[in-house]
Amino acid sequence: MIDRAIDFLISTVKIDNQVINRQDRYSESSKVINSVVEITFLGTSSGVPTRSRNVSSVALRLPQRAEVWLFDCGEGTQHQILSSELKMSQIRRIFITHMHGDHIFGLMGLLASCGLAGNAQPVDIYGPMGLSEYLHACCKYSYIHLANRVQVREVKPGLVYEDQEFTVNCLPLKHRVPAFGYRISEKDRPGRFMVDKAIALGIPPGPIYGKLKQGETVTLPDGRRIRGTDLCEEPEVGRKVAYCTDTVYCDAAVELATDADVLIHEATFAHQDAQLAFDRLHSTSTMAAQVALAAGVEQLIMTHFSPRYAPGNSLQLNDLLEEAKAIFPNTKLAYDFLTYEVPRRRLERVCKL
Ligand code: ZN
Repeated sequence: MIDRAIDFLISTVKIDNQVINRQDRYSESSKVINSVVEITFLGTSSGVPTRSRNVSSVALRLPQRAEVWLFDCGEGTQHQILSSELKMSQIRRIFITHMHGDHIFGLMGLLASCGLAGNAQPVDIYGPMGLSEYLHACCKYSYIHLANRVQVREVKPGLVYEDQEFTVNCLPLKHRVPAFGYRISEKDRPGRFMVDKAIALGIPPGPIYGKLKQGETVTLPDGRRIRGTDLCEEPEVGRKVAYCTDTVYCDAAVELATDADVLIHEATFAHQDAQLAFDRLHSTSTMAAQVALAAGVEQLIMTHFSPRYAPGNSLQLNDLLEEAKAIFPNTKLAYDFLTYEVPRRRLERVCKL
């Protein structure tokens, strides 16, 4: 009976039209040209929370579609959300990197609260093998019924999600248990169609505008040939964010982060503690910076710090920052509630790459 009440829809990730639902089609490209993609760090400590840092969780806010996507959900994540400007009701997708407790112990509480709040929005959860079994067990023994609003999809390397604006890919990282890093890519889109210019050229409005918007060349009834590209602004380059934790330095992290606007990478240890990093398959600040450098990212934000570098200790987080900056200058340290708006690139700069 309890099993019947636990009504998850579990499916191996398969990208086809089924995962592109109506809600995902909500945005037309013209509405999101100036949309914001914003990262909020909800937890930046590794292993255990400290007074100033909770355990892992990062939110990606997509305000134009009123959605929040979470990456990992350590214990207390819902409290962090309540203390932030994010809305629980907007959580639409949760991507889990691996099954260590500091990345998943907040998941069940958060899902249960979403249910109690009468949150009608479905939540899709993506993560490694074992995640659905874990959630089933939590529901079973705590008598929680999440109904079919929650879908758990166990990921495999490659594409795990796609809609009209975004793709999410994952690759296995190098950790003590199976762990996946994620790459979130906004699709490029054509530049704004300059209606004024079309009207000035005497092009009659109608289906022809649709072709011109797509950059096609059309022939007008009077014989003139008009190139759509002449009537469109420069294409918008999609933003890319990579999230790599937990892992020691690995090529998969570089691949996920290639040409990303932001790389969020764990830096559990300082360089002098590299042996610990190798033993526990975590990264040092210098490894995070090396990934950023090799991948050619714009911005590195380090997170998942060992509590051993708290203020008052001989080695502190600013030391980790300096170590990383020596290799990759454009590095920041994450802290809880840090919000970072992912800037949209200008085409000129991309062309120079
Ligand atoms: Zn871990």
